[in-house]
Amino acid sequence: MIHFHRPKIKSQDLLHKYRLIERRKLKTVMTITGTMMIVEVIGGLLTGSLALLSDAGHMFTHFFCLRGQLCSYSLCYKRGMSS
Ligand SMILES: [Zn+2]
Repeated sequence: MIHFHRPKIKSQDLLHKYRLIERRKLKTVMTITGTMMIVEVIGGLLTGSLALLSDAGHMFTHFFCLRGQLCSYSLCYKRGMSS
């Protein structure tokens, strides 16, 4: 089942504000994910825990994908501004 969260916005100003809010939320998630990744790397190195190190690698994949999503938002934003 497909589920959409994006509201139907007709005004360009509202759409612009909505995109800014979405980017801010994405940056917050990236900050949390990146912080947890660093904490897991440090904890894994200090305790010698392979589980923490491997989960840090897993968090890196999440962080990498979120970064890609932020880049795509930026491209969409620039395209929207130029048209
Ligand atoms: Zn995951």
